[in-house]
Amino acid sequence: MTTQNAPVGGTGAVRVRFAPSPTGPLHIGGVRTALYNYLFARQTGGTMILRIEDTDQSRFVPGAENYILQALKWVGIELDEGQGTDGDDGPGPHAPYRQSERKAMYRQYAGQLIAGGKAYYAFDTPEQLDAMRLQLEGQGTAFQYNAITRQKLNNSLTLPQEGVAAKIAAGEPYVIRLKVPAKEEIRLNDLIRGWVHVHSSQIDDKVLMKSDGMPTYHLANVVDDHLMGITHVIRGEEWLPSAPLHVLLYRYLGWESTMPQFAHLPLLLKPDGNGKLSKRDADLGGFPVFPLQWTDPESGTVARGFREEGYLPDAMVNFLAFLGWNPGTEQELFSMEELIQAFSFERISKSGAKFDIQKAQWFNQQYLRQQPDEALAAYLLPALEAKGIGITPQKAVGIARLMKDRVTFPQEMLTGTEFLFTPPAGYDPAVIPSKWTPEVAAVLAAYKDELPSVENFNAETAKALLHSIAERQGVKTGKVMQPLRVVLTGGTVGPDLMLSMELMGTEEVAGRLETAINQLA
Ligand code: GLU
Repeated sequence: MTTQNAPVGGTGAVRVRFAPSPTGPLHIGGVRTALYNYLFARQTGGTMILRIEDTDQSRFVPGAENYILQALKWVGIELDEGQGTDGDDGPGPHAPYRQSERKAMYRQYAGQLIAGGKAYYAFDTPEQLDAMRLQLEGQGTAFQYNAITRQKLNNSLTLPQEGVAAKIAAGEPYVIRLKVPAKEEIRLNDLIRGWVHVHSSQIDDKVLMKSDGMPTYHLANVVDDHLMGITHVIRGEEWLPSAPLHVLLYRYLGWESTMPQFAHLPLLLKPDGNGKLSKRDADLGGFPVFPLQWTDPESGTVARGFREEGYLPDAMVNFLAFLGWNPGTEQELFSMEELIQAFSFERISKSGAKFDIQKAQWFNQQYLRQQPDEALAAYLLPALEAKGIGITPQKAVGIARLMKDRVTFPQEMLTGTEFLFTPPAGYDPAVIPSKWTPEVAAVLAAYKDELPSVENFNAETAKALLHSIAERQGVKTGKVMQPLRVVLTGGTVGPDLMLSMELMGTEEVAGRLETAINQLA
């Protein structure tokens, strides 16, 4: 079919678009769709376009468009053209990129289809359609407006020509429907699925233009993809059933020779692989399905976001790239640049991709570890300040170094590190006093006394001193370590003790030891 890393089909420059509808927060699956478009655009030196498909005004949600822009920005998807790109020459040569602002332009194409006998006016009222539905259901058949039923309905195929003109002149509401042929096989060559065949009897006469003069998704999508010179339509599998209809539209509008290539991405499945991933599954599993937190403008309900939960954008990108694609090698960690190099349609699977949140967490851990300590310190400083703890930037860097290998999310660096700022309120009774033997007490008393004289106090020197005192006194260091941890931190588990001591400083360590010695004497 195609070779890896080569532009797929066509000779012109690649132009792809992400075309979300602003009906609410962008689902994480939408981010994956945008990402695959972006990877392909960058790999081929093509153009990544954002088009806002807002023709369904009843589903328009304020704030959703801005959310989409913020989400793309967060994961590092850069737009070259379209909504949200405001270069010196505006958003691009095909502006506007919001379909509602292109409304007037779609009509002529619906008109062209009518003139060519490929579409028709339909005047049926909702009551008439309901009556037909009931009648057919009574006969055990599901209602579809199609090649059979349209012959008995109220449209320009059944009404006399003058009647149609009169109705339109009288301002009677109507829609424009596509006249889908009764018996025809429609084929399309999907870059992921290969040849897809659909019989036209399975497609209904979709509405192309609504009674308010707004085009439907199908008409606006095809017209815009054509006018904007889109070469590849990369979108979710849920749009595959619409693709044959779109092929018909390209054909009837005379654009089939330049029709974009289609690539329908596999669905995102529930973690157990049983059906499509929904917000409900995510809620049950305790994870988000939206990239960013979203507050519903009407209800005020807040939906959680990956960003707010502490997922790093690079980890998210890596995780999403692997939902339905794999490089065919063992390598799992890929930067955006590496993904751009490695991406190929051949390695996208046809079957759904399980949304394995544990894998997302694993990626996050890996990326957190790769972060420079200074970057994590920049996160820690304000977070600690919010808790009323003021520390030096240098100490924050130390905490990052101490904690980053132990956590999945940045905010977890703050849990279990309270002892660095506050002396323990009590000691774990499983250890103290039973393991605070006279010999241990003697080693730690000497340790306390000698600590202030250590030059260049750090994890290494702290450890060396402890070893030398223990050896001198003939006590195994292993016996001292646990009681030392407990009197310094209160508990038996925690981050590296020597590094922790380095962060506390000699004065604090000596002070806590003194408290313990006095208390346990
Ligand atoms: N507006 C559609 C959506 O919300 C776009 C589908 C397509 O890419 O054609 O997903």
